[in-house]
Amino acid sequence: MTARIIDGKRIAAELRARVAGEVARVQRENGLTPGLAVVLVGSDPASQVYVRAKHKQTQQAGMASFEHVLPADVAQSDLLALIARLNRDPLVHGILVQLPLPKSLDTEAVINAIDPAKDVDGLHPTNAGRLAGGYAALSPCTPLGCIILTKSVHASLEGMNAIVIGRSNLVGRPLLQLLLNENATVTIAHSRSRDLKQLSARADLVYAAVGRAEMVRGDWIKPGSTVIDVGINRLPEADGKTRLVGDVAFAEVSQVAGAITPVPGGVGQMTVACLLVNTLRAACAIHGLPKPAV
Ligand code: NAP
Repeated sequence: MTARIIDGKRIAAELRARVAGEVARVQRENGLTPGLAVVLVGSDPASQVYVRAKHKQTQQAGMASFEHVLPADVAQSDLLALIARLNRDPLVHGILVQLPLPKSLDTEAVINAIDPAKDVDGLHPTNAGRLAGGYAALSPCTPLGCIILTKSVHASLEGMNAIVIGRSNLVGRPLLQLLLNENATVTIAHSRSRDLKQLSARADLVYAAVGRAEMVRGDWIKPGSTVIDVGINRLPEADGKTRLVGDVAFAEVSQVAGAITPVPGGVGQMTVACLLVNTLRAACAIHGLPKPAV
């Protein structure tokens, strides 16, 4: 079997176009322009690339984009003061602090300072708790993207056996909750799990969010299952350059799976698109408007 490739680039572009349509509608009908503020501390090159992509795609969707770049040695109190200002700013409906923060800063305190109504990264304990309780919440963007990609293959996930490999607050745990909301039966695995290969080989849906290059092999996969690869790993090449690979051994797994996301061109494309979705939803909720049609 050769798996169908799930085209994250196309699906993300379609989602961004739907967001842009809804942004135009709320502007027309309600005079509301959703606004996203992104805070970048320091000059980590990978973070700068992500922030630039967010800025560009936010503007392309017709939203307001506010960028705040702070030096790596910024005082915790100054960062918290900026977040307090953004919490009060009526033009800002979404606040995202680019992670990871420099070690001198208290990440948990920074996340806790964001108004949960503007927490478009879905990391505030209020949103994490609401999601875990099955209530409406702003959910982290990467897991949201994973669900949309899965639903491009399966209209319903009800009763399917899913395994999530990785239990981070950013990906694995919220993905578990979103899959439960879809009525899937979910196993969550981590570095202490036993018999990972056997657990994975039972699953109809496999999500790899580990950060270990090509860890999930062809013989971990039930024939015909759907494999969503969240991992982003750089492998050194002979010419001194690096090659981007996921947590799934794509060449092997794509011979067994029914559908698979590539790296790059899979989940990564969805994360920023889902950030736009969350910003639009947050803006509508803050203004007491109905949930947008995206
Ligand atoms: P993380 O915080 O480092 O969490 C990794 C998880 O994998 C942990 O739960 C860890 O278990 C588990 N793990 C580590 N080694 C394992 C092993 N040998 N077997 C089973 N589980 C193992 O990473 P993350 O933030 O969730 O990110 C995971 C990957 O996704 C990374 O490659 C990251 O770059 C990528 N990512 C991509 C996007 C995107 O937009 N595409 C977004 C976010 C992250 P313990 O809890 O037991 O330590």
